[in-house]
Amino acid sequence: MMGEVSITTRSPEQTGMLGAALAPELLPGDVVSLGGDIGAGKTVFVKGIAFGLGVEGRVTSPTFTIVHEHMGRYPLIHLDVYRINSIQEMFDLGFEEVLDPTAVLVVEWGDAVVPLLPPRHLQVDIRAVPGAPDERNISLIPRGSTWARKLAGMQVTALELFSAAGAVEHLEQMWSRPPASQPPGTRDHGGAAEMNGD
Ligand code: ADP
Ligand code: MG
Repeated sequence: MMGEVSITTRSPEQTGMLGAALAPELLPGDVVSLGGDIGAGKTVFVKGIAFGLGVEGRVTSPTFTIVHEHMGRYPLIHLDVYRINSIQEMFDLGFEEVLDPTAVLVVEWGDAVVPLLPPRHLQVDIRAVPGAPDERNISLIPRGSTWARKLAGMQVTALELFSAAGAVEHLEQMWSRPPASQPPGTRDHGGAAEMNGD
């Protein structure tokens, strides 16, 4: 089973490409929670997801409006809970409605409302890299076995996209590095085994 993955992107475009690589894995009911400080690149990542889902309109930050809805291959609900002060406030604003089983939900600052999220979701943490203004460390943390499998699929797509952009060596080098917390032997199960099969 594919566990947590860490990738360093070197430009906003690469972060967007990672978001786009996630899109083919997304189905209605799926939830992606994004963490990271202001300016980390959460909205850039969501723009990539939206592009990959075929959203045609402009995708902007919902920091002040809290929720934006787009139509692509599926409805995409883009939530930013930065200005929400409590779980209760989120509840009062109607969180159940954004957990629409016919839509894909992406939540910026999702860590703040994690008790409201379904246990199965993908957590994406984006962190700035000290001394490298255009680099970001992106951790993809699958919550639930479905997401571990989807991550394996995302890797295949990411390799294609980065390859087309001439950055494949970089991605291969970054993505294939097993996380320090995971002994190499544990990678040869389930989705990861299929993925490494050819
Ligand atoms: P957030 O939604 O996390 O507050 P945004 O996505 O709105 O952040 O903004 C991220 C900013 O960082 C953008 O101005 C973007 O151009 C810049 N940036 C620089 N390097 C990167 C990178 N590797 N990935 C994502 N954004 C980057
Ligand atoms: Mg944002």
